[in-house]
Amino acid sequence: MAEPSPWRIPLADVRLPRAAVAAARATLESGWLAAGPRVEEFEAGFARLTGARHAVACSSGTAALQLALAALGVGRGGEVVLPSLTFVAAANVVLGAGAEPVFVDVSSDDDLTLDPDATLAALSPRTQAVMPMHYGGWATSPELLAELGTRGVPVVEDAAHAPGARVAAGALGALGAAGCFSFYANKNLPLGEGGMLVTGSAEVAEAARRLRSHGMTTGTWQRHGAAFSQYDVPEPGWNLRLDEPRAALGSALLARLEADNERRRRALADYRRLLARVPGTAMPFARDRPDGEVPAGHLAPVLLDPGIDRDAVLAGLAGRGIQAGVHYRPIHELGAYAGRGVRLPRTEALARRVLTLPLYPHLTAAQRREVVHALAEATTAV
Ligand SMILES: *Cc1c(COP(=O)(O)O)cnc(C)c1O
Repeated sequence: MAEPSPWRIPLADVRLPRAAVAAARATLESGWLAAGPRVEEFEAGFARLTGARHAVACSSGTAALQLALAALGVGRGGEVVLPSLTFVAAANVVLGAGAEPVFVDVSSDDDLTLDPDATLAALSPRTQAVMPMHYGGWATSPELLAELGTRGVPVVEDAAHAPGARVAAGALGALGAAGCFSFYANKNLPLGEGGMLVTGSAEVAEAARRLRSHGMTTGTWQRHGAAFSQYDVPEPGWNLRLDEPRAALGSALLARLEADNERRRRALADYRRLLARVPGTAMPFARDRPDGEVPAGHLAPVLLDPGIDRDAVLAGLAGRGIQAGVHYRPIHELGAYAGRGVRLPRTEALARRVLTLPLYPHLTAAQRREVVHALAEATTAV
């Protein structure tokens, strides 16, 4: 039974396939709910998807970022370079680790990911990591990631928007020291809550596994199978584990991810075609994309021309039953981060012009036309 929605067309919409619901139900009926073989199977599936050697499932995308920073030794006295045009969780985990976020501007109106030159210019002897975000499932410059690798700067990819996305060099999330995915309810692989850290490093994976479970050297499932168990806690950790029902759901949805992403990409291409005829609007990520890029199609961002009142357009869409979003309010303008004297002209200007249209695999052609028609009306009315 679907929840009644206040929207004719919501920003995101989850439709779980029967097989996925059946897999979760069978797990509930099995009586083993804590992390076990289904979590290990989901991790193995994600390692296959990304080509990463190790995958560590956890309770959220934020948890994956937190574990990545901790496993890489990011902490007091250090700096982490990241975009401001991203979700606040990215900066929160940096502060939580005791390090300082260093916000960098985006490339342009067309490419809303980290500006490569500004990123390299922001590096200092205190830089402990760079945390790019693959906005909407489009890649941050692969040349930038490679250059950071050459310079020995650990890269933690915020791949929350990008499961299944790739460039010629490999899967997004598997290009740096660690990659972090989110399975929040509005993401491409929705579990309600959940996350995954992938890495090529056995040390990072081992540290992340320990830290997600209180810092203990063995897991509950291992202890369940053992006649007796002994564990140590070399350093304190947290409880950031995933559980079996969501892992079972995750493996079932993973089987559909590529097909769902393809439907998202087609819907995006259709939006692009329709919006080309709407004055005052542009869709970013139209130019100069990296070799071999296959985006994940997570978001449908639109930039309004300067001078159009974005918030009035959002209100106009809402009045027509269409839920649009804003990705994002710049982090350096939020209360906890304001007052640091950060100026990012492109991010600040863009953030007042950007909005996100509804996008999900089963969004129909008629719905897309309705959204674009409403956007055209709302844009000319303001
Ligand atoms: C969703 C998201 C996160 C956080 O993931 P959660 O699973 O909600 O904790 C981090 N970064 C970005 C860019 C996101 O979109």
